[in-house]
Amino acid sequence: MLKRRGGQVPGVQLVMRSTRVVTPEGTRAASVSVRDGRITEVGPYDARVPDGAELADAGEDAVLPGLVDTHVHVNDPGRTEWEGFSTATRAAAAGGITTLLDMPLNSLPPTTTVAHLRTKQDTARAQVHVDTGFWGGAIPGNVADLRPLHEAGVFGFKCFLSPSGVEEFPELGPAALESALTEIAGLGGLLIVHAEDPSHLAAAPQKGGPAYADFLASRPRAAENDAIARLIDLARKLDARVHVLHLSSGDALPAIARARREGVAITVETCPHFLTLSAEEVPDGATEFKCCPPIRERANQDALWQGLADGDIDCVVSDHSPCTAELKDGDFGTAWGGISSLQLGLPAVWTAARSRGHTLDDVARWMSSGPARLAGLDGRKGAVAPGHDADFAVLAPEESFTVDPVRLHHRNPVTAYAGSTLHGVVRATWLRGQRIAEDGRPLRQCGRLIERNQHAGRTETQRTERPTA
Ligand SMILES: [Zn+2]
Repeated sequence: MLKRRGGQVPGVQLVMRSTRVVTPEGTRAASVSVRDGRITEVGPYDARVPDGAELADAGEDAVLPGLVDTHVHVNDPGRTEWEGFSTATRAAAAGGITTLLDMPLNSLPPTTTVAHLRTKQDTARAQVHVDTGFWGGAIPGNVADLRPLHEAGVFGFKCFLSPSGVEEFPELGPAALESALTEIAGLGGLLIVHAEDPSHLAAAPQKGGPAYADFLASRPRAAENDAIARLIDLARKLDARVHVLHLSSGDALPAIARARREGVAITVETCPHFLTLSAEEVPDGATEFKCCPPIRERANQDALWQGLADGDIDCVVSDHSPCTAELKDGDFGTAWGGISSLQLGLPAVWTAARSRGHTLDDVARWMSSGPARLAGLDGRKGAVAPGHDADFAVLAPEESFTVDPVRLHHRNPVTAYAGSTLHGVVRATWLRGQRIAEDGRPLRQCGRLIERNQHAGRTETQRTERPTA
């Protein structure tokens, strides 16, 4: 415990002050004291700044908890022409994200064994601008790898129920899904699922071509709804913890909500593109909008917003899944599926949220504390509160900008938001008390590799570092 002298926490090195600090108890004028990269106090706005401490005065700009993006495809090593740890985490920092979890596929190797995890960590270590952790992968034949991966610090395991798009990461059939989930439940772990039923996809017309309506018809809502229904049944039967990735079909929400009320441990995320873009406005041939499951109709989007308002959706994360511009050539049948939006998630969601009467407190719950809880990082990440890392996104909520892809930091200047006018300019991003980005420019690189929170607050790097006393 910190001892107080004259009402002050000793050793405060930074005071972050704003008229709008977004805390778990609401938004208020406050001064946030930071020592050794952690928040020690959220005090009165006019609190005296201790001698020797830096004052960061955000004025009227809002200070949110740094965003936690638990769904990012960094693709490094192996497909670094698509993305990489340096470019992805620079984009994250510029966009107000301070913690990122990397998906286990699209890199070579995929994160399906401990050796592969080590390869990925070794690749990432010297490159990351934000704190970075890893999901493991559950694929056919790797049940024996799940416990070692869990013990090595992955945050949980991702699987697909339909083809993933890359041959080194096959989907799990019903029997393999049950054995993987049985093993993961025994570990007290989490299975995160790309839930589209392959039989519905196989039965749907696969026309290809430039028409977005044809692509949408090829990934029907029923594929998601049925896959999620089966997942709920299995989670209930095995008493397992499961998470639905990138929910697109609002039709599935009542079943999820019912299961939660009945005590099934199921959580769900959706993504900025499902909340802000609609099928009606996707131009034919515009493959930068292609992703799986797909962007659906406006009425469906309203159902997703209702799910957020009702608390039935736990988090909003990017599913940033980039590729080269060449792989987006062609039509909806042939182009790579994935939306590039890492740097834009906060303004995209805020733009739509404010028009629907939501507040920055809601956005912080969906994009910071919600994903932190999913990853077991709550208590350390995702809140402006004592004991948490001093991770901040400083946002000018009323200001707007027009998206110019070449000014974004992810590797390939492709995004579905090109030319859009968005509200909410990220002025600065702070990671553990250090300014890591300012006005869209990444600054110092001080990200760390993080592991599942077996021991509160321990990060991989801290094992070899002496804590600064
Ligand atoms: Zn994904």
